[in-house]
Amino acid sequence: MKFPIYLDNNSTTQVDPRVLEEMLPFFSERFGNSASKQHSFGWIAESAIDRARQRIASLLNANPEEIFFTSGATESNNLAILGIAQAYQSKGNHIVTSSIEHPSVLEPCKSLGDRGFKISYVRVDESGKVNLKDLKGLINSKTILVSIMASNNEIGTIQPVDEIAKICNAKNVLFHTDAVQSLGKVSLDAQKIQADLISISAHKIYGPKGIGALFIRKRKPSIQLKPIIHGGGHEKGLRSGTLNVPCVVGFGKVCEIALNEMENETSKIKLMQNRLFDFLLSGIEDVSLNGHEIDRLPGNLNFKFKDVNADLLLAEIKDVAFSSGSACSSAKAEPSHVLKAIGLAKNEIQNSIRLSIGRFNTEDEIEYVGKRFTETVKRIRDKIAID
Ligand code: PMP
Repeated sequence: MKFPIYLDNNSTTQVDPRVLEEMLPFFSERFGNSASKQHSFGWIAESAIDRARQRIASLLNANPEEIFFTSGATESNNLAILGIAQAYQSKGNHIVTSSIEHPSVLEPCKSLGDRGFKISYVRVDESGKVNLKDLKGLINSKTILVSIMASNNEIGTIQPVDEIAKICNAKNVLFHTDAVQSLGKVSLDAQKIQADLISISAHKIYGPKGIGALFIRKRKPSIQLKPIIHGGGHEKGLRSGTLNVPCVVGFGKVCEIALNEMENETSKIKLMQNRLFDFLLSGIEDVSLNGHEIDRLPGNLNFKFKDVNADLLLAEIKDVAFSSGSACSSAKAEPSHVLKAIGLAKNEIQNSIRLSIGRFNTEDEIEYVGKRFTETVKRIRDKIAID
């Protein structure tokens, strides 16, 4: 076994060697700019971009023309929200989102709030599911966009995005979903979901960091978006900037792998997830799961341990990489807004950790981690009892 054991796959993942292999030539001999139309260096890069766009579209069951590259899901979320707000402000100034979104959704909404937009936050229950009745009630004649994530990065709760899309379509309101954590892990079929805009990123599914995309549905009347980055007019004028060809190639490859391997991989990861869940729940008293028990991302576990501070666990268990609160959602060390929104008390938030299992974890690692946590939690509690 190699230490430390990496159990923070919802934060980021190791680049799959097959992905790296496809990327490498685009750093060296195939270094062309895909926007150079006059020579073969550009044509080679352009055809690699086309292929990647096709592969990403296939995983989403979308049309390649519906895929727009960005620097990651943070930018995709900003483009979707700010771009729609600017394009439709004459129609309305109201946006509906939820309080458990990633900061890359919450912050652009907040900044629109400072500029006169009205932002409503739909309620979530104690498992993190949005209340659909509440959502219906919040949409009004001024609503131009609903933005609800497909699954949560901290507690793993999967939202009923197809039902949310139906509600939005019936009310003639655009629907955006941040699907970063769902891509390549659970089915994400753009035809079935009928979302208008979908944000995705490569680095959560064994691809490089700094590359993402926004799916924009081709429909009539066409969806209008104002760009947030201006320049040479790349990506049909929606996102200027020379494309990061090696990373786009890597993004395409991760999607191809996911399309072929997702089913097998998900069952393997679910087995490890269940094993670790059973291990901790049978071996430790007063531990409970945060988030939804069934509608949950494969590999995600978020636990609270009574009387055991997560920082203490992090300090004691250095040979396992995991997170407390949400290291992945924020550069700031603040108590998780997600755990707060599902009703956890301050001390419960401080006692919560996230373990996220991925492609490169093994059953032996899961056994080790199970034992390591069981022993450490007991030791910390015994010490508290003596003190
Ligand atoms: N949304 C969610 C749900 C995420 O988990 C993340 C990554 N932490 C992002 C958006 C941002 O993605 P990126 O790192 O590609 O900017």
